[in-house]
Amino acid sequence: GATIGVLGGGQLGRMMALAGSNLGYRFIALDPTPAAPCGQVAEQIVASYSDKKAAKLLAERSDVITYEFENVDAEVAALLEEQSYVPQGAHLLYTTQNRLREKKAVEAAGVRVAPYAEVRSEAELRMAVKKLGLPSVLKTATGGYDGKGQWVIRSEEEIVTAYAELSKAGTELVLEQFISFEKELSVIAARSPWGEIKTFPVAENIHVDNILHVSIVPARVAESIQREAERLAARIAESMGAVGLLAVEMFLTKDGELYVNELAPRPHNSGHYTMEACNTSQFEQHVRAICNLPLGDPSLRTPVVMVNILGEHMDSIVQAMTTDQWHSEGSGSSSTTGFAVIPKVHLYGKSGAAPKRKMGHINLLCEEVSNGLDWIEKTKIWRNQHS
Ligand code: ATP
Ligand code: MG
Ligand code: MG
Repeated sequence: GATIGVLGGGQLGRMMALAGSNLGYRFIALDPTPAAPCGQVAEQIVASYSDKKAAKLLAERSDVITYEFENVDAEVAALLEEQSYVPQGAHLLYTTQNRLREKKAVEAAGVRVAPYAEVRSEAELRMAVKKLGLPSVLKTATGGYDGKGQWVIRSEEEIVTAYAELSKAGTELVLEQFISFEKELSVIAARSPWGEIKTFPVAENIHVDNILHVSIVPARVAESIQREAERLAARIAESMGAVGLLAVEMFLTKDGELYVNELAPRPHNSGHYTMEACNTSQFEQHVRAICNLPLGDPSLRTPVVMVNILGEHMDSIVQAMTTDQWHSEGSGSSSTTGFAVIPKVHLYGKSGAAPKRKMGHINLLCEEVSNGLDWIEKTKIWRNQHS
């Protein structure tokens, strides 16, 4: 079969390669870390992402190229597009690499984002704070993830420090109005080169310390909001001419209004629930979309709660698994909790369980999402985290 080259060899690439090999594709990842999560299940070129020779080699070896993170060097993206087939295109990357460009693209699709202002100096920040009010969130336009590169400004006194801290990164900054959301939701849309679009069911996401803690599906919001969120995601994917997956993070206010927070042109942590809970996983869907296969059926088979395993949870997880409290590749219901929950554990094969590092996740297949949330409570592994 054809070979798919993946820029990046983390867990997203790994799960993409596992899903895609079932469709008959071979995978080769480019990642600087030897035996990266994806490199353990596929071939790997060990080199820096900005190494042009390595990128050229990846292009020669691959029939199709995709990426698993959006901060791909623009020159490398252009080189790959020239030398191989990059169905997602360099333009989608260019847009989603920068929060300002991304917001403009969302607005161009006729979808709301939180009121924002571009910030190029401390004086501009002061003006932006006046305009948008407090609290508001200062973010670097590029490079941020897991809440890195942002600062919630709660009083005017913080302006000087916030500006000094974030401008160190040397990128443009953007100030966003703070949305006091009721819930955070996300929808993952898939679009193929000829324009077929399908969306996965809406996930309700709970973050702890800016890192995704759980995704709950079905989201505990009205059906009408779920449909609206799916429509918005499809509209953005269509308007941007995206190919592959486009994850759309949103805020839902208590008035029932949806605001887009940010986009990701790739599989997304909040879509990991699809692996067992949907007829087609986000990873398979991404491969289908970039390879111009008919898209799979994204519909939900069962309620599910996805919980992330971070470095600090690993000891307890390994202990629970080795004492056979639950099964790693999951079968049967969990007799230890008394709830009808089937835990499906996915570990990414990373060495070095540093705090906050994403090491794996568990999909809790359940009768009702409340069973999954109760299961999380009962294990006490995430005991300081509230869902
Ligand atoms: P990710 O790891 O999802 O890429 P990130 O570092 O790009 O995260 P954002 O998604 O922009 O950061 O923000 C992280 C979290 O901070 C959001 O999920 C939300 O909980 C909160 N947040 C961000 N912007 C706002 C806002 N304008 N109003 C209210 N909360 C916000
Ligand atoms: Mg982000
Ligand atoms: Mg985010």
